[in-house]
Amino acid sequence: VHHCGYNGEDGKLLLPRLKQMAARENPFGGRNAPRRAAGVHWVKPELVAEIEFAGWTGDGNVRQAAFKGLRADKPAAEVEAETPKTDKALAMPKKAPKTAPGGSVVMNQPISNPDKPLWPDAGDGEPVTKLELARYYQAVADWMLPHIQGRPCSLVRAPDGITGAQRFFQRHAGAGQSTLFTQVKISGDRKPYLQIDRPEALAAAAQAGVLELHPWNCAPGKPDVPGRFVFDLDPSPGLDFMAVIAAAKELKDRLEQLGLVPFAKTTGGKGLHVVVPFYAGRSIGWPEAKAIARAICARMAADSPDKYLINMSKAKRAGKIFLDYLRNDRMATAVAPLSPRAREGATVSMPLTWAQVKKGLDPKSFTIRTAPGLIGKSAAWKDYDDGERPLMPVLKKLA
Ligand code: ATP
Ligand code: MN
Repeated sequence: VHHCGYNGEDGKLLLPRLKQMAARENPFGGRNAPRRAAGVHWVKPELVAEIEFAGWTGDGNVRQAAFKGLRADKPAAEVEAETPKTDKALAMPKKAPKTAPGGSVVMNQPISNPDKPLWPDAGDGEPVTKLELARYYQAVADWMLPHIQGRPCSLVRAPDGITGAQRFFQRHAGAGQSTLFTQVKISGDRKPYLQIDRPEALAAAAQAGVLELHPWNCAPGKPDVPGRFVFDLDPSPGLDFMAVIAAAKELKDRLEQLGLVPFAKTTGGKGLHVVVPFYAGRSIGWPEAKAIARAICARMAADSPDKYLINMSKAKRAGKIFLDYLRNDRMATAVAPLSPRAREGATVSMPLTWAQVKKGLDPKSFTIRTAPGLIGKSAAWKDYDDGERPLMPVLKKLA
């Protein structure tokens, strides 16, 4: 109450009414809900007040709130979270948007131009609209968030879809951007980076035409501490996908022999990613982690020089798989699990069980339309949290 700019008169009128509504139960639910503390009194959520505010904090609280009076005309049950006034990225267009069935609000975020097609065809002949993208993000938010939270995240934005003229890779926070995104300071860069920490930020991402999410591979909340490897298996054009499957399985065996626990995902494109969570410990930074990743790939390439290589030169890649260990660096990114791709077919980067990594695996079958149903039933990455291993013993084994 004392934050909200009451004058004495309002306070005097309000207090008796609030006392009538005193409650024992905390009326707030969800993440970051206020807790019982000394001097906190709960009331039943029945009065409606008009609040002017500047935006949302990363925790989902209103910023610079000012009490503008009670609204007797509006029942409490009809109140919804609103878009901040200053937020251009989220502001409703002046013209009422064409509403799709079920409305055009996702996770309390208004989606303008909900019917705009972003992918002309999701592999089933039907386009994917902006509203469907927002609903996709909502459907996979709980699964995806632990893998992107607390890490700077680059965005591929294509506001007019994959066939539109505009496409940009955005690392930094920009002017007029939704306050639902977290801004994070990185050593060595004055401009803050973007971070996605809450499900609502994914709806804001859809609203801003974000088609791909590319987080750092740091430990959550520690941008300078390595937290996972991503091995990017890049087949040369025309190579059979079976060769990529074989490469992923060989890499899995090598990682397991080193005591690590690898996980596989499609990229939504041509190759596969093998992801390895780890605990860096005090003496391992990115230079050491990258050296480990390089050494693993270098040995695999040295054992089958006809199949694999670890240098970038395109000329030598024909018929081979490039074992790209370069994703494993402080500011390097890899596409997030379940991120859509701004590519033909509305494919997504699909987390897999190792049992799925076999003949017949078709990366094109995992799309914005199919992935939510599939991931709910899948055991993929279930043991991810238990898969984190210390890196120091790996370094010793390799030496
Ligand atoms: P594919 O299987 O088709 O190779 P991919 O996601 O692995 O899909 P790559 O081109 O191999 O695509 O890129 C690997 C990673 O490098 C990407 O996931 C992305 O995070 C990062 N990356 C790609 N292009 C850029 C770019 N222009 N700027 C910054 N990072 C990029
Ligand atoms: Mn790749």
